[in-house]
Amino acid sequence: MKKHYRVVIIGAGIMGLSAAYHLARRGITDVLVIDRGYLCGGASGRNGGGVRAQFSSETNIRLMRESIEICRDFATEMKINVWFRQGGYLFLTRSKAQAAQLEASAGLQKRCGLATRLLSGREVQSIVPEIDTQGVELASFNPDDGVVFPWPFLWGYAQAAEALGVELATFTEVEGFATDGKRITSLALARTAHDALAAHDRAERTSAHGRGPQLAPESHTERPVQERFSVSAETVLCCAGAWSPNIAKMLDISLPNVPHRHEICSTEPLKPWLGPLVADLSNGLYFSQSARGEIVGGVSVEPVPHGINQRSSVQFLATYAQALVRTVPSMASVKVLRQWAGCYDLTPDQSPIVGRVDGCENFVLACGFMGHGFMMAPVMGRHLAEHIATEETSALFAQWNLRRFAEGNLLKSESMIIG
Ligand SMILES: Cc1cc2nc3c(=O)[nH]c(=O)nc-3n(C[C@H](O)[C@H](O)[C@H](O)COP(=O)(O)OP(=O)(O)OC[C@H]3O[C@@H](n4cnc5c(N)ncnc54)[C@H](O)[C@@H]3O)c2cc1C
Repeated sequence: MKKHYRVVIIGAGIMGLSAAYHLARRGITDVLVIDRGYLCGGASGRNGGGVRAQFSSETNIRLMRESIEICRDFATEMKINVWFRQGGYLFLTRSKAQAAQLEASAGLQKRCGLATRLLSGREVQSIVPEIDTQGVELASFNPDDGVVFPWPFLWGYAQAAEALGVELATFTEVEGFATDGKRITSLALARTAHDALAAHDRAERTSAHGRGPQLAPESHTERPVQERFSVSAETVLCCAGAWSPNIAKMLDISLPNVPHRHEICSTEPLKPWLGPLVADLSNGLYFSQSARGEIVGGVSVEPVPHGINQRSSVQFLATYAQALVRTVPSMASVKVLRQWAGCYDLTPDQSPIVGRVDGCENFVLACGFMGHGFMMAPVMGRHLAEHIATEETSALFAQWNLRRFAEGNLLKSESMIIG
């Protein structure tokens, strides 16, 4: 590892890796990406892989149209199979108020060039005959939405960025910063040996703290550090997802986003029967069928534990099973094989926080992507690379800047949030 980089990116989730790849594509290859854990250890390796342009805000619709196009070409460009399958997204509503909102969103989506169409309960069965449509007020369907397998998406970006000269350091954590009052002058890093970390995590799982499966990024006891050192950078990009407020706090910067646990599970593989990802806006239920046949899905469960928490609960399984079987009665006999959890990164107005931070001129944020940051990353990586390379603030970055919270300019909330 060198002593100085043009850009250091904190967090090797989909956002950090996409930004690194796009920086390198622009010729900025003097880039270091660090992550305290392994690739796919954060939300990027724990999500449902849903990719859709059906949103209620024009900004999200237009960005996601572009992202879907990138997803379509990703396998060819990166030479890795991401199991991208465009079976559409089918949104269900169960109240008049939500139906009216869905109708307005579908109208906007159509004006933005999407193929979204509205469906009555009965018409829903022409797309998924297995759905019990009793109580469904209105639905919307966009055939161009889809799903991917998240892990190879990260591997694809990581391999391609490294091939262009980017350095990637996993098991390397930011512990603090030195500043001159205006900018970051260096980052204090700690490297953990992979095997020592695995042993530490095994010990934690059986300790008084560990009452269930637990992974490296949320350790309670001190991690086994192999080496401490520092690096400097012209720009520091924070892509630490739900951990971003912790990173910003090291610089005395307060962020309004909070982690919010979301649980998810996967069943035994079934013969292909489900085309779209189905999302019920009344209870946060969503489910799709992976290319291997598993039904992957989740549901909202309240209350969630405070802070970063990636543990699974029985309450989730019971709530999910009830919601799923009500929607698709034939799922009653299917076995769940695996369940896990990750964190959404919630902001007060449900829009991300991106761009330079007032008072710390070489610190750039890219966080607060709620429960749809995976699908945003392909297009956001391009925008982040442009922001860093040109030092210009686009209209998008001005709108999503941190300063809106201090100024009281919160954005209109996105209504098509799942989970
Ligand atoms: C159950 C679930 C389902 C979801 N479903 C979808 C979906 O269908 N579609 C979709 O688009 N989105 C979905 N999301 C949201 C999506 O996963 C996230 O928005 C996205 O992955 C965020 O990516 P990221 O790179 O910003 O953060 P992350 O992937 O969380 O990466 C942040 C990284 O920062 C690292 N880090 C933290 N602290 C430090 C430190 N001090 N030093 C170094 N590294 C550090 C972490 O180890 C982590 O790897 C879902 C999320 C969950 C939890």
